[in-house]
Amino acid sequence: MRVAAVYYDGRNAKAHPVTLCLEGDKLLLQGKDVVRRDALAGLDIQPPLGSTPRVVLFADGARCEVADNRGFAELFPGTDSRVAALENSWRWSGLALLLVLATAGAGYLWGLPYAAQNLAERIPAELAAGLDREVLADLDGKVLQPSGLNQDRRRGLEAKLAALVLPDPAVRPAGLEFRASAELGANAFALPGGSVVVLDALVELAEDDAEIVAVLLHELGHVAGRHALRQMLQASAVGLAMAWYLGDFSNLLAAAPALVLEARYSREFERDADNFAAETLRANGLSAGRLADMLLKLETARQSRLDGKFGAGLDYLSSHPNSEERIQRLRSQ
Ligand SMILES: [Zn+2]
Repeated sequence: MRVAAVYYDGRNAKAHPVTLCLEGDKLLLQGKDVVRRDALAGLDIQPPLGSTPRVVLFADGARCEVADNRGFAELFPGTDSRVAALENSWRWSGLALLLVLATAGAGYLWGLPYAAQNLAERIPAELAAGLDREVLADLDGKVLQPSGLNQDRRRGLEAKLAALVLPDPAVRPAGLEFRASAELGANAFALPGGSVVVLDALVELAEDDAEIVAVLLHELGHVAGRHALRQMLQASAVGLAMAWYLGDFSNLLAAAPALVLEARYSREFERDADNFAAETLRANGLSAGRLADMLLKLETARQSRLDGKFGAGLDYLSSHPNSEERIQRLRSQ
């Protein structure tokens, strides 16, 4: 009869998985890199406290933690009273329930983002482009209006973006889309398939083209990481499961426009996109601080919107949060 335990030698924090068994009046402890035999009389066997593992203290300062209270009680009959054993079985049920909940939680927290990333990388370019057309057509009928920028201005910005040296030549926005929007204010956003939408108010807010380019590069960073697509897949867990098992993307398509507008990128995605923008700005002889300059302008614009009658629920900074932290990081680069 053996009981699994975790052994700490008392000199460093390394945990050694071991098994315990009885050999006459000695406790035999065996692990991959540790074996010891100790007289039972010299051990301090402590009763389990609450749901924490039972602790066995050795005379030389080493210790052993035994989570398997029932197994331990069988190995050392008489150590536990019947009441304590019953209590422990209740504790175990509780622990089992916690484990199930923790597994479900972990699946949601880590499994889902992983699956979303995996799927996002496998969605073919034509499908992604088709998704963007659908999302844009939907938004055009709701919150987006035609851009007031003239053809020269648009071509000029497209040319500036196209002339940039990018860290990865494979990264190109599927297309730059110019629009205006009373609701969305000064804004730019990446669509799930990789197109980048830029709104007139943002172009007008910028002091010069470098600031616009800086924001577009941040969006391009989201495109390179497929963040919008991953975010969308993640937000629609049911749709993700359907897409995964049935190859049916209709649920995702229906939810896509709302998800694009309500997206709120994680701190990690923001940092990745900022790093992409900063690196590319520097590679093209521009300062990473230009993105910080533009963020500050967007922050001010947001404040004046908040002070006025407009809601600021769907502005640039609500989908790209943590601006203060981002400005500081960009300035220090
Ligand atoms: Zn962002």
